[in-house]
Amino acid sequence: MYRFTQAYHRLYESYGPQGWWPLIRESRDGLKCRYEPENSTKELNRQERFEICAGAILTQNTNWSNAERALASLAQSGILNPDSLAVMEQELIAGHIRSSGYYNQKAKKLKAFAQFFQGNPPPDRKLFLSQWGLGPETVDDMLLYAYDQPVFVIDAYTKRLFSRLGLCDAKVTYHELQNKIMSHLEEDILMYKEYHALIVRNAKEHCRKLPECRGCPLEDICMHARLTGET
Ligand code: SF4
Repeated sequence: MYRFTQAYHRLYESYGPQGWWPLIRESRDGLKCRYEPENSTKELNRQERFEICAGAILTQNTNWSNAERALASLAQSGILNPDSLAVMEQELIAGHIRSSGYYNQKAKKLKAFAQFFQGNPPPDRKLFLSQWGLGPETVDDMLLYAYDQPVFVIDAYTKRLFSRLGLCDAKVTYHELQNKIMSHLEEDILMYKEYHALIVRNAKEHCRKLPECRGCPLEDICMHARLTGET
């Protein structure tokens, strides 16, 4: 359906490349996750791939800045790598990631994932989904951003956006929406990366719980804006 592509182009023209997935870099204020345009195209090394996967776990049920502080704490202590986390006491890991919330559970997930990652698993979606603590959104973040696999990430922002645009039901399931989007877009990994990041950006700037439609790049093609007279 043309409108899935049209919405992407509108968002991209408005916001430009988003530099996902943010990678840890030294900065004047210490270690920070940086959004750089080349992040989505560069060839990742093993460490960067693991860092993205760890970030995908840490951002479960919390916002990115909380996950970022947890990642920075692990990196600062030199343990943001699979070989350290795979053998560390869960309690010690938990102490570094308190900012991310659910830290005991996430410490357990990080340790289990580090052991899994040490075996150099192939980027097989079923295999990743069979690991404890990894749901579809986390796995798809990992596969798309760390392993360059052509999967479209769905999250609450994605459901909200496409249901407001009139392209899906508000109660659509993860896989229903994923299949629908992927069947209407060209298979383009770079576009999938940008599109998800752009949806998050627009959800922060305009398509919030209470939408701010005025000035939204999708205002004139949005069913919600038309029905509520917010255009
Ligand atoms: S026009 Fe309003 S409801 Fe539609 S996508 Fe933009 S902010 Fe969301």
